[in-house]
Amino acid sequence: MISISEAFEIIERETISLDAETVDLNESIGRVLAREIRADIDLPPFDRSQMDGFAVRTKDVEKASEKNPVKLKIAGESVAGKGFNRKIKQGEAVRIMTGARVPEGADAVQKKELAREFGDAKGVGFVEIFQATKAFQNISLKGAEIKRGERVFDKGEIIGAQMIAPLASFGCAAIEVFQRPHVSILATGSEIVGIRETPKRDQIRDSNSASLKAFAENAGATVEVLPRVKDDFEILKIQIAEAVASEKQLRNTNEELRENENSKTKNQSKVLNPKSKILILSGGVSVGDYDFTKPALRDLGAEIFFERVALRPGKPTVFARLNDTLIFGLPGNPVSVAVTFFLFARAALLKMQGAKNYKLKSGFAVLAEKIKGAKGRDSFLPATIETNSKGKLVASFSFGSSSNFIAFVRADCLIFVPRDENLEAGTVVKILFLPRK
Ligand code: AMP
Ligand code: MG
Repeated sequence: MISISEAFEIIERETISLDAETVDLNESIGRVLAREIRADIDLPPFDRSQMDGFAVRTKDVEKASEKNPVKLKIAGESVAGKGFNRKIKQGEAVRIMTGARVPEGADAVQKKELAREFGDAKGVGFVEIFQATKAFQNISLKGAEIKRGERVFDKGEIIGAQMIAPLASFGCAAIEVFQRPHVSILATGSEIVGIRETPKRDQIRDSNSASLKAFAENAGATVEVLPRVKDDFEILKIQIAEAVASEKQLRNTNEELRENENSKTKNQSKVLNPKSKILILSGGVSVGDYDFTKPALRDLGAEIFFERVALRPGKPTVFARLNDTLIFGLPGNPVSVAVTFFLFARAALLKMQGAKNYKLKSGFAVLAEKIKGAKGRDSFLPATIETNSKGKLVASFSFGSSSNFIAFVRADCLIFVPRDENLEAGTVVKILFLPRK
């Protein structure tokens, strides 16, 4: 049995980054940046008014007050998209709109509410300013948000919806991201039936295929769910061999595509990377008489990196490789599936995509109630978190059983409980935040 950190190191060692490809900005959510992004322009690109009002010279209006307004001549107008194109002179103001360029010579904008516009007898426009301005008042200076050439995002960042506006602003219509890994999912167990079926006596519906598909897709993978397999050594072997063989076929197809000169550019996006394949099995990894995952993998000649981890839940987790396919054998219990997926398989998928942060985000919280650790195994137990009135983050393990997969839905994090330890209420514990999507 190996420790969680040893298991993690093996997974890190065996997972290789995929190549980059270019995608449209609109298709880029959830993808990982393969290149850092730098600003190609200053933002704002010019000194910009934050108000509707009048661009003025602070010096001209320094004595302005409600009782003694300063009268300035309106030299023209600056609107968004069309600025005023000469320097303003002493005694002049320019009518300006929010978002418009502040004309040269002006160093402040006085808002409309503190000004009164009027025309004289000859129809020349004037404005009275009722309050002095400070230099740069109501102006966003050129480059104040970001300067051209400055780094906006790092290579390895996962593109989230909030990142789209900056990416669009810097003209990133096409973005270089890492390729998505391809995942096959294979649920095993003689008791599991399809989700459209009504389970008969001794049967349950297969929830793992669907949840693993969702988890893997959220981690950026493309997913194929394979037909379920009963606890049958021979059939399981054939299914695993097939899942891996299709990998070989894929490679042959790729070679054909590459050899075909005409298809060089046209088909490039169709050429799948052989490294991009992961097989995730659920169930049948324990030591029961009908647990055939490990024997099947061994019989097929898979290299098994580990098969028991000092972890609760998830002790019988298997990590192996057959041909170029990395294989995770996860215990069938749906909570174990979730915990081991989030700890191990998710990290592998994100690391393949070049993500900088492929581990779950960690933090600390105060325990709401005491928790018992497991003998000889570190625990990662599902918990909800809330900040209390003192501003402390409190973690509650109120699940009764760590295999309650309906309660698990509410979990915000996993609490780390070191092996052989019992933790009292109030203890500060390490937590791993679960992804909320
Ligand atoms: P196993 O790892 O095969 O010993 O299964 C552990 C527990 O998880 C058993 O109660 C199984 O019935 C359950 N289980 C296994 N596979 C699935 C599945 N695909 N969907 C839901 N529950 C499962
Ligand atoms: Mg089973």
